[in-house]
Amino acid sequence: MSILALLLYAFTLPSRLFEDPFCTLIKDKNGELLGAHVAEDGQYRFPPSEHIPEKFKHALLTFEDKGFYFHWGVDIAAVARAVKQNLQAGKIVSGGSTITMQVIRLARKKTNRSFWEKCIEMIWATRLEFRYSKKSILKLYASHAPFGGNVVGLEAASWRYFDTPPDKLSWAQAATLAVLPNSPALIHPGRNRKALLVKRNRLLKRLWKRKIIDQETLQLALDEEIPDSPVPFPQHAPHLLMLAKKQNKNLAQTSVDIQLQQQINKISEKHLRKLSGNHIHNLAALVLEVETGKVLAYVGNLPLYENKQTGNDVDMIQAARSTGSILKPFLYASMLSEGMILPQSLVFDFPMRMGNFSPKNYDRGYSGVVPADRALARSLNIPAAYMLRDYGQEKFYYKLKKIGMTTLPNPPEHYGLSLILGGCEGSLWEITGIYASMARSLNHFSLYKNMYDLNDYHPPEILKETPQRKKDETPYGYFSAAAIYSTFQAMLKLERPSNTLNDNILQSSEPIAWKTGTSFGFRDAWAVGVTPLYAVGVWAGNADGEGRPGLVGVKAAAPLLFDIFDLLPDAEQFFSKPTADMLLVETCPNSGHITSEFCPEKQKRYIPKNGLRSKVCPYHKRIHLDLSEKFRVNADCEDLSRIKNVSWFVLPPAAEIFYQKNNSNYKPLPPLREDCKKSTPVSSNDIQILYPFENTKIMITKDLDGKKGRVVFEAAHRKKTMQLFWYVDENFVGTTSGKHRIELMPERGKHLLTIMDENGLVRKRSFEIAGTKKKKKVDFH
Ligand SMILES: [Zn+2]
Repeated sequence: MSILALLLYAFTLPSRLFEDPFCTLIKDKNGELLGAHVAEDGQYRFPPSEHIPEKFKHALLTFEDKGFYFHWGVDIAAVARAVKQNLQAGKIVSGGSTITMQVIRLARKKTNRSFWEKCIEMIWATRLEFRYSKKSILKLYASHAPFGGNVVGLEAASWRYFDTPPDKLSWAQAATLAVLPNSPALIHPGRNRKALLVKRNRLLKRLWKRKIIDQETLQLALDEEIPDSPVPFPQHAPHLLMLAKKQNKNLAQTSVDIQLQQQINKISEKHLRKLSGNHIHNLAALVLEVETGKVLAYVGNLPLYENKQTGNDVDMIQAARSTGSILKPFLYASMLSEGMILPQSLVFDFPMRMGNFSPKNYDRGYSGVVPADRALARSLNIPAAYMLRDYGQEKFYYKLKKIGMTTLPNPPEHYGLSLILGGCEGSLWEITGIYASMARSLNHFSLYKNMYDLNDYHPPEILKETPQRKKDETPYGYFSAAAIYSTFQAMLKLERPSNTLNDNILQSSEPIAWKTGTSFGFRDAWAVGVTPLYAVGVWAGNADGEGRPGLVGVKAAAPLLFDIFDLLPDAEQFFSKPTADMLLVETCPNSGHITSEFCPEKQKRYIPKNGLRSKVCPYHKRIHLDLSEKFRVNADCEDLSRIKNVSWFVLPPAAEIFYQKNNSNYKPLPPLREDCKKSTPVSSNDIQILYPFENTKIMITKDLDGKKGRVVFEAAHRKKTMQLFWYVDENFVGTTSGKHRIELMPERGKHLLTIMDENGLVRKRSFEIAGTKKKKKVDFH
């Protein structure tokens, strides 16, 4: 019998006392509350915290359970006292309940206070004392005690009534909170204020009597007012709170700096008010610490309007949006890393046509050729498309995935060359994260003795404490240190916006590598900036995707970017040059390439080490002129002594036309002297095949009505009046003059295109018709 009773007693207590759901809440790096989201049952019940502040503990035990540390769950003396008091009063004025018994009552959620219920509480309470330490029992009480309304637990109450964390409570505040759970429904700072004040002051005096507080403290505490009405929980980063909730980080001590967050909330709101004049209603900003990738500020959107009709609840830091030009630096860095270009080598900037795809520069102009760093700083689209063609669209696609983009759900063919021009989507979260990763990798390069840690590329972190990452050291990073450095250098050369809130004169002149992006149809404005210390990303637009004229990166997003950098401490200096990954070589000032024997001028420049693989200047050629220097000649038609050998800067025919317009000092190749034409070996360089590219696989686009489309082939000739004759697999298909463009519909399979000019000069190119695909709209800008 006694064994049975013992067993019953042992198993009487449920294994989990409380099953209640908790709020999601986030705190800043110093424990300040950033925001709280109500628990599933509509209660503000904060997750249990690790310690109970001393003042509250003293106040609570003095008020409720003086013998707490000495009893076994039931305080016989207190019960006896209570019985006596209740008999004297003729009604129940005291329960004689210990804190332990109250924990049981809270767990059992029984509202009746019958004798039987009381007995169960006492039995469970003694059992609870076996299982838990006194400290744990106090913690259970502090986190589940009711504080009126839907406020449960000390921490929620502390914020709700005093707008302060529990460990910063004053004696008067701690005493108020100690008396509240006793009858939360009756006494509430919103009602019955007088009764609450009396109860609090009585407790304060008892604390003084027990010598827990001194006379002066008592006096000051008695003078303190009780709170008027509950204050709303802070909402400094509502979208970060939602993110924490989604990731089940219920009690998140984030890395956010509350002061910075509040400042950025404020200036973002000012910017958004300006933008809203142009019906741009959403704005997001993200600040990351480069070294750790930790989030210092997270403005997912702004609650500018009460009615919430403008999508302000959508977290635009996490939303996948068209990237515009914001990925271009990744391509530039990729090509530099692999020695495919040098920082200033010329890239093509003349019309491109690939099926339906025919990118345009923002200003609709063409430069012919342009140095790669200028093309990046000016964010030219056509050079970017040519660069992606050269780098390999599929290779770039996989690179983007490797460095952290998860927003590319389709296979690489789907995006084609538009991948670099906003044909894909990205999130501010990941893109800012990648810029931070690049900066981190560059910062670490010399620290890691010229090695790379691939794990330096990681998404931003929202928690203050993050697990240590394992190092994945390799001699080759996703981008070489010199490539990242040169990319950031090129990104310094953008012209800063003038419409920041700060006066330009006040603005810091700290060097910031930055890039903007604007998506097709003016739907997204991006700006991302990076220094050795911080990476900042800004997005502006409408969550519903409505485009607005003037919604361009430099106007709508960049001003806020610079205002945010003004709030951040400046780095001591810009990124230090990774000289171990660079070489001092002679480059051609005209082409940016390593000099060939024909380059007339040379300049010493630091290039990424891998740049040694890049080709030498292909544009300076040795040509033979007659003494007048007006005609080209050769040894068969001119006496050797009358031939001048000179270096000449010769651009491809399609580039020359545009380059000449802006560069009056460009001299086209002099013509062959009439009597030399026959004997001159033909140079196929006079004909340039613009499309198809060498060995391309062409998908023929089917029109919407199902009719098979045609492929436009295109060529250029240095001599404008020249006619061209076109052959596919040695079958004559047509003649062109002026604009050399021809529409063809070759069969599926491999083909050889041959183009011949009037002089019999020939150029050949292999290509393949891979199949047909349905027409789709290609977005790019
Ligand atoms: Zn040269």
